[in-house]
Amino acid sequence: MSLTYDLDKAIRKVPNYPKEGILFFDITSILTNPEAFHFCVDRMVEIYKDTEVAAVAGIESRGFIFAAPLADRLGIPLILVRKAGKLPGETWRQDYRLEYGEAAVEIHKTDVPAGKDVLLIDDLIATGGTLSAARSILEKGGATVKNVFGVIGLSFLNFQDKLPGIEVTTLINYEGEEM
Ligand code: AMP
Repeated sequence: MSLTYDLDKAIRKVPNYPKEGILFFDITSILTNPEAFHFCVDRMVEIYKDTEVAAVAGIESRGFIFAAPLADRLGIPLILVRKAGKLPGETWRQDYRLEYGEAAVEIHKTDVPAGKDVLLIDDLIATGGTLSAARSILEKGGATVKNVFGVIGLSFLNFQDKLPGIEVTTLINYEGEEM
């Protein structure tokens, strides 16, 4: 597998979804394209294979899809950051605002490796609000987040402002909504 791939072509863009004015970047068209999906996982492994992290944390639900193969390939634990009300054990919880709406995330307290670094993964980084909330619950449990990864970044939404002190890596970044 080559380490270059035209990921832009593999991403379906849907205007005015789920609301008027939002350009939706649809990763299902990456998942149905084995070459594109394999490229993403290989690149993530390449980027993080020498980074000292105790666990990979994936954000529900599309973040799980990319976090799971990475955790497996790195041979480290996978932690699930879930929408509120889905985890049966004791949790840390954080409410936050989305690009469109409001939400809350939770994590099992027992899953957080206190005193260690965790790599946070989502499919797409828009405002950075979700990842910032996920960072908060990991930090409530005593872990540190120095690295965040998204397959797609929408830097025109200024996600870096919500993720101070964090190295944010994306495989493809969009600086504006024009296609
Ligand atoms: P944010 O918290 O604003 O960074 O939003 C990130 C989450 O919302 C990610 O889990 C994305 O899956 C989803 N999301 C936000 N905006 C978009 C968009 N324009 N296209 C596709 N997914 C999006």
